[in-house]
Amino acid sequence: MPKIYLIDVTNRDGVQTARLGLSKIEKTMINIYLNEMGVFQSEFGFPTTRHEINYLNANLELAEIGVIKPLRLGGWIRAIRGDVELTYRNIPKIKHLNLSISTSDQMINGKFQGRKTRDDIIKDMTDAVDATRARDPESIGVNAEDASRTDINYLVEFGLAAKEHGAQRLRYCDTLGYDNPFSIYNSGRILAEKVGIPIELHCHNDLGMAVANSMAGAMGVIDGGQDAYINTTVNGIGERAGNADLLAIILASLKSKDIAKKYTLGGQIKLSMAWKIGKFASYAFGVPIPINQPGLGANAFAHESGIHADGVLKDPENYELYNFEELGRGDPEFVETGREISTGEYGGISGFSHVMSRLPVPIKFPDRERANEILELVRYANVESQNPLVEDELIFIAKYPGIAKKLLTLTPLE
Ligand SMILES: [Zn+2]
Repeated sequence: MPKIYLIDVTNRDGVQTARLGLSKIEKTMINIYLNEMGVFQSEFGFPTTRHEINYLNANLELAEIGVIKPLRLGGWIRAIRGDVELTYRNIPKIKHLNLSISTSDQMINGKFQGRKTRDDIIKDMTDAVDATRARDPESIGVNAEDASRTDINYLVEFGLAAKEHGAQRLRYCDTLGYDNPFSIYNSGRILAEKVGIPIELHCHNDLGMAVANSMAGAMGVIDGGQDAYINTTVNGIGERAGNADLLAIILASLKSKDIAKKYTLGGQIKLSMAWKIGKFASYAFGVPIPINQPGLGANAFAHESGIHADGVLKDPENYELYNFEELGRGDPEFVETGREISTGEYGGISGFSHVMSRLPVPIKFPDRERANEILELVRYANVESQNPLVEDELIFIAKYPGIAKKLLTLTPLE
């Protein structure tokens, strides 16, 4: 039976969002957490963007040494030959790519302004797929941008051309959040049946339906006989009103009425990572978790009104669809209310050593030289993030200083 797999795009769609961004170490932590959570793939960044080069290569190195494994790391580029060539110059060891091009008449006319026809779009895309295949990657996905406003017959033609040239997946992008669950179910099913390869659902939340649309699209794809790949972001952070929230998609797959009976979530998802990754993304992006966010909001398990409180005390299942402990919630959080020593871009060795010795598993350094080296990396990491580093970041830097140095090395205009 075909299944649902998750491709998280926080490190691509999430970071390209207006006003928001992540440091390269924060992006790396997201990949590490996604891996721990059992997510299938992370769209980890932009291979043709100069400041991403060290980060992407360093993360592939982490995959090689088994730190980020089995999570697949996929790059996002435009579906043009030049982008493919630049990608392999910048990131020679990249194994997974998604190639993106607009397919709707709106975009063809409105963006390319008469310079390209529908046939040109298919030609650009197949040229890019050919160029990628020549590099022998493990997987190629082709993205139809604005697929929901694209004539479905043309979309089938586009998908068949991608398949014929060796693409393994077609991404259906509801770029503007225009679909509804019924329309995307149909499109997903038609594409699965007529193109005959796995279909990715990439949904935006402009009408508040990103999660519902992703689920319905995936159901259509599975009913059409193919695996469905849902694009998610942590806390739903993404362009404009955002993308489908990772945790909400997992919960919908596991807990929604009758879905799990027929539409199975592939891989081993560790739901108990939800709290950790959601809190980290909120901190790193500087975007508070809304009080009513599914699973993670402060009110997600709060009960006050008489009937509800009484009911939940008698049996939580009266008013809770799932348990907070499943999501990794429930541990008390330690908040310093007295003296606090932190370490950062202007920190010194004494404060730094104090902080490292207070970690859950204290880190001691063999000599002062080594401690100074790690402190220097921590300073630079703080220059980039402008946020005090979390414990896991400090541990990561102490454990992989060589990789951390690469992540922190940015060289503009060489
Ligand atoms: Zn998007």
